[in-house]
Amino acid sequence: SLETQNYYLGKEDGQERIIPRSKFSHKGTYGHALIIGGSLGKIGAPLLCSKAAMRSGCGLLDVLVPQCGQSIIHTAHPEAMLLSDSGEEVLRDFNLPKTYQAIAVGIGMGQDEETIRGFDLFLQSLEQNQALVLDADALNILAKNPTWISNLPKETILSPHPKELSRLIGEWHSDEEKLLKAKEFAQRHQHIVLIKGAHTAIVCPDGSVYFNSTGNPGMATAGSGDTLTGILVGLLAQGMSSTDAAILGVYIHGYAADLAANELSEIALIASDIIRYLPKAWLELQ
Ligand code: AMP
Ligand code: MG
Repeated sequence: SLETQNYYLGKEDGQERIIPRSKFSHKGTYGHALIIGGSLGKIGAPLLCSKAAMRSGCGLLDVLVPQCGQSIIHTAHPEAMLLSDSGEEVLRDFNLPKTYQAIAVGIGMGQDEETIRGFDLFLQSLEQNQALVLDADALNILAKNPTWISNLPKETILSPHPKELSRLIGEWHSDEEKLLKAKEFAQRHQHIVLIKGAHTAIVCPDGSVYFNSTGNPGMATAGSGDTLTGILVGLLAQGMSSTDAAILGVYIHGYAADLAANELSEIALIASDIIRYLPKAWLELQ
């Protein structure tokens, strides 16, 4: 049988994966990311995601939201560039350029019929060298259309919360069974599966599992996962491997939330605070 390894992430695991910025670099050096998501009433999700992506060092960022979200993102996050669908849902009518190193899709997206069809076409149009993060409704749609998994680029990062995970891998009766099923899924499809929660597990295509040591229950709050997805796509855009991005991303996400909770309390912590404390987290980690 295949032996697989378990690891517990320490500070040095994050530190050694940080990409130093070179003196003669320019924004093109750090990659162009794309975030796809949002729907009427859920524009906050791609907004949090896009702020977290740029606070994680990517050079350029486009955000594709439905038309109702365009001016919201533009106003709240001037560093991001906007692509916009015509309706109240995203991916209805869009032909994406192929210039992105990394794409995150699903946050606040909804599951409108047109969006589901657009998501299918989007997956088919991806190049193997484009890094992908699937979250939220992208995972819910995938769970209903499991054959589409074969269209994902290799080593896609899937970042489900427990409910989304159960739709993907089925129900479990113990933590052991949950881990086993996630491992089976990651190995069979050769993707990275996150099991989010206290001590988030990063389940790798080779079956190894990294358990996170950072984070706190203050993170059990709306939008918290959207900031993780932003961090992940921001790191992937810089050319980091999916495993490295998952390890560093999950670690720094929890680290920033720990810094925030120390000053603001776990009770008061909101997702925006995780973004606000990201700079301090990077400073302490590098
Ligand atoms: P989501 O449910 O998609 O918003 O994601 C929640 C985020 O917060 C994930 O990154 C979880 O790992 C994190 N989180 C939620 N609850 C806890 C907890 N009790 N302890 C540590 N991290 C948590
Ligand atoms: Mg989420």
